[in-house]
Amino acid sequence: MRTFLARRRPGGPEAPVGGASRWRLGLLWLMIISAITVTGVSAVAITELQRKAERAGELQDLLNDMKVAAWQQSTLTSQAVMAHALTPAAERRRDEIDEAVDAIGNEFEDRDPGSAQARAVQAAYIVYDTAVDEEFDLFAENDIAGAQRIQAERSDPAFQALTAELERADRHYQEAADRAGTRAQVGTALILAAAALIMVVLVGQSHRVRSRAFRRATFQASHDALTGLPNRVMLHERIAAAADPAGEQIGAALLLIDLDRFKEVNDTLGHHYGDQLLIQVARRMQGVLRRDEMVARLGGDEFAILLPGVTESKDVASVADRLHDALDQPFPLDGINLTVGGSIGAALCPEHGNTADELLQRADIAMYAAKTNRTGYMLFNASQDSSDPRKLTLASELRRGIEQGELVLHYQPKVDAQTSEVLGAEALVRWQHPEHGMIPPDEFIPLAEHTGLITPLTRFVLDAAIQQCRSWRLGGHEIPVAVNVSTHRLLDLAFPAEVANLLARWELPARLLTLEITESAIMADPDRALEVVQQLHALGVSLSIDDFGTGYSSMAYLKNLPVDELKIDRSFVSSMTTNERDAVIVRSTVELGRNLGLHVIAEGVEDIATWNELDAVGCHAIQGYYVSRPVTPGQLEEWLNRQPTTAPGSAVGAGGERLQ
Ligand code: C2E
Ligand code: CA
Ligand code: CA
Repeated sequence: MRTFLARRRPGGPEAPVGGASRWRLGLLWLMIISAITVTGVSAVAITELQRKAERAGELQDLLNDMKVAAWQQSTLTSQAVMAHALTPAAERRRDEIDEAVDAIGNEFEDRDPGSAQARAVQAAYIVYDTAVDEEFDLFAENDIAGAQRIQAERSDPAFQALTAELERADRHYQEAADRAGTRAQVGTALILAAAALIMVVLVGQSHRVRSRAFRRATFQASHDALTGLPNRVMLHERIAAAADPAGEQIGAALLLIDLDRFKEVNDTLGHHYGDQLLIQVARRMQGVLRRDEMVARLGGDEFAILLPGVTESKDVASVADRLHDALDQPFPLDGINLTVGGSIGAALCPEHGNTADELLQRADIAMYAAKTNRTGYMLFNASQDSSDPRKLTLASELRRGIEQGELVLHYQPKVDAQTSEVLGAEALVRWQHPEHGMIPPDEFIPLAEHTGLITPLTRFVLDAAIQQCRSWRLGGHEIPVAVNVSTHRLLDLAFPAEVANLLARWELPARLLTLEITESAIMADPDRALEVVQQLHALGVSLSIDDFGTGYSSMAYLKNLPVDELKIDRSFVSSMTTNERDAVIVRSTVELGRNLGLHVIAEGVEDIATWNELDAVGCHAIQGYYVSRPVTPGQLEEWLNRQPTTAPGSAVGAGGERLQ
């Protein structure tokens, strides 16, 4: 088969060639005429062409082959381009287009062998086709910026050049027809003039369809389907542009926003409401920003805002203020008013980083801090966090750590304040990191909370603690084990069933498990927490309110919670012998707890004076370094076997005479 295009893709099928039906020809001419008008060839020229065509009797027949090919090309081009931009499996279609273009090109070669026009058109077409190929290849590799660059710098100019070349060929053959002596020469010249015009139209149409499909696909690849906001891909590009030292921008601020109560809306009201809420949130945030500022959705309820040229912390804080104002207003959804609120973290370029990854990581750290400290907004604190680059990669390593068994539990005993009898042991998780050694929970629990890793983490801790308790029990020590429950888990309605399953699996009586929950977790959503706590209570599990006194709990809620124990926070306990105000808080908490019929325990007991005072004011139990530091299960078991002589991790080598 002759080829007009020098370059062929391997494996392409032959172009289907069928007989031309009348309606196809009619349509083809319609399409050509309307498209020619669009491409700027005057109607006069068309009429003139038709008049001459009628003079050449066999023109209609001679045009047939070419029209069939042209028709195929036009329809295939549309389909192929649409298909190609969206699915990479359209390579075959593109071969078919090449075949069709070849068919037209071969007409030039056949009827005007070795012509300069045919060669010029061929050369221009190859340049154009190569550029388009490259553009789509980059697009398929998700290099949208690269594809756009090729389009602007190569495909579009090559398209203009090709069109100009075809128009030149058309003029050339029309002039040749005017000069021609014989009827046959007139016919040939007119056919070639028409062929050139058809190609102008087809190439123009193909180019427009390609560009439109490309624009649409580019939009889809760089925007979020639900809200229509730019997505992570586009955000990365824009950050790169803002941070580019060679570019015009001088720095930028990046804000990350995480909605505070989105998950509840989604879980309780359903995805429809969740989606509507996200759309409204997106619009509201856009309303706060200037035209050159961008809000992107990163997925779920996480948004990012890029403020090009903003490098002052006070300017970022004022945008964060405006965002809070916007997000704190209720969102009306089908007659329900929802309030969500959000936590915002920010990082500055170049102060905190120069790449999209660095800035996102740092804004993310600031956002955790804003969320966990309930401050609403935080700017990345370079002095705290950049000195500790571990934090930046910990999140990704934590997932692997959980899976590969790098988490271990240490246990800290709780003892009776009067008799020193062991009343239980609290499980405290540690991460034995292969490179960084033992990492304390304060460094990774907030991270786990934020990334959702808290679910597998809590499951691991519960499973290990229940097994440990069972093993102590089989060894003759019936000591209840206490496990810390994070906010996320406490608000998950599926959590009680998870606990029940683990207890059943290890055949441990529920009374041997205590769950420590915090006031702040309860107050994050009191109604939901109450529901979960009631179900846990129904299982027979004990509940302890941890860090009591640090939260802003309302007695109205607490009195309805079926809890068994109050644990006075160590910040009051450790200074109660030196600070009268703390002593007052501790005394009143003990009294409050006793009056409510609760067991009261004090944590953070570091010396005998504190222990004595707690005992004197009626505190039931104590926990702290003075009795024992958190120790491995083996150390605790050894200590239990030696009981009641020495404490396993006590700095003073024993609990003193109190443990006698
Ligand atoms: P927490 O629940 O208040 O745990 C008590 C913390 O106080 C422990 O720190 C313990 O080692 C420390 N501590 C005990 N006695 C003393 C003392 O006498 N003086 C002082 N200064 N500190 C004492 P740790 O193990 O670093 O845990 C810190 C926090 O991490 C825990 O506070 C808890 O909120 C969280 N955490 C630990 N394990 C888990 C877990 O498995 N799940 C969850 N969700 N959180 C956990
Ligand atoms: Ca605790
Ligand atoms: Ca505590």
